[in-house]
Amino acid sequence: MPPFARTVTVRSPAKVNLQLAVGPRRLDGYHEVVSVFHAVNIFDEVVASDGIPGAGINVTMEGDGVEAVGVGEENLVFQAAKALGEYADVALDVNLHVRKDIPIAGGMAGGSADAAATLVACDALWRIGMGREELEKLAARLGADVTFALHGGTAIGTGRGENLTSALISGQYHWVFATSNEGLSTPEVYGECDRLREGRGIGDPQIREALMAGLRRGDPELVGPQLCNDLQVAAISLRPTLELVLETGMSFGALGGIVSGSGPTCAFLARDEDDALDIAAALSASGTCDSVRIATGPVHGARIVDSGTNGGSLLEST
Ligand code: ATP
Repeated sequence: MPPFARTVTVRSPAKVNLQLAVGPRRLDGYHEVVSVFHAVNIFDEVVASDGIPGAGINVTMEGDGVEAVGVGEENLVFQAAKALGEYADVALDVNLHVRKDIPIAGGMAGGSADAAATLVACDALWRIGMGREELEKLAARLGADVTFALHGGTAIGTGRGENLTSALISGQYHWVFATSNEGLSTPEVYGECDRLREGRGIGDPQIREALMAGLRRGDPELVGPQLCNDLQVAAISLRPTLELVLETGMSFGALGGIVSGSGPTCAFLARDEDDALDIAAALSASGTCDSVRIATGPVHGARIVDSGTNGGSLLEST
């Protein structure tokens, strides 16, 4: 990093889908979905700093399991910086350091959170001043979940999930997440979903009104039984042990339990913070999953938490 390089740090949240309704496969290969996204306080951070002129985009990562993720063009952080820089015609010289806390390939859209964080960080670092609407359009090109990571809160997504409308909700929700060390591939889970549905007529995805009513009331007792995920059967088919994780969480008093997105993380809604701690402890002791996290939602989307210079001396650059 050059001496006195400017840095911008952005924090971006994980998501859980309170509902994920998956329609038939479209001609372009994607599925029409209706998704109720909910951002929770498990965050990744991206630190963007001035790169050396001509050195290009340099991605580094820290956190559990990052060895499995490439840091070249395949990384969503790289793709986000490139897309923004090309769009705004800016020299693509930037260091991007990702501090990962969102489980990788866990169905919580960690990669998308990183891409959203990168858009916000590079927009500030490069002083582009993109409007929110423009950033969301660029985000949608990178992936359906990237738009939501920018947006945060609780929102209904249609199309591939990228057309967002904020949902009316009240209250704070307490979650327990049971995670696995080994991820599931989103395309494989969708493929398994198509295979299991073969020969069955699948209608257009519909929002669950009872879920939205529970969210408006801010009542976890009403929300819990309405959580639903059309990818769950496919995720369980590929990872049968998830069924036991779900049964275990429910038997310890969760109000609802679902596979998060394409899995393998399982999400449990608790009555309150104390119940969340009890469910987390019991799940952890049960040995049915690799680790357990508690979290609350909704939280904000990708936003700057720090900016300044590295204040480094010339010696640091050698
Ligand atoms: P989603 O819920 O959006 O389907 P996910 O939470 O299941 O995604 P991610 O952690 O977003 O999974 O990563 C999925 C794959 O994307 C990983 O296996 C990895 O190879 C690739 N990937 C690219 N960039 C990143 C990144 N910055 N962080 C994590 N994974 C990344």
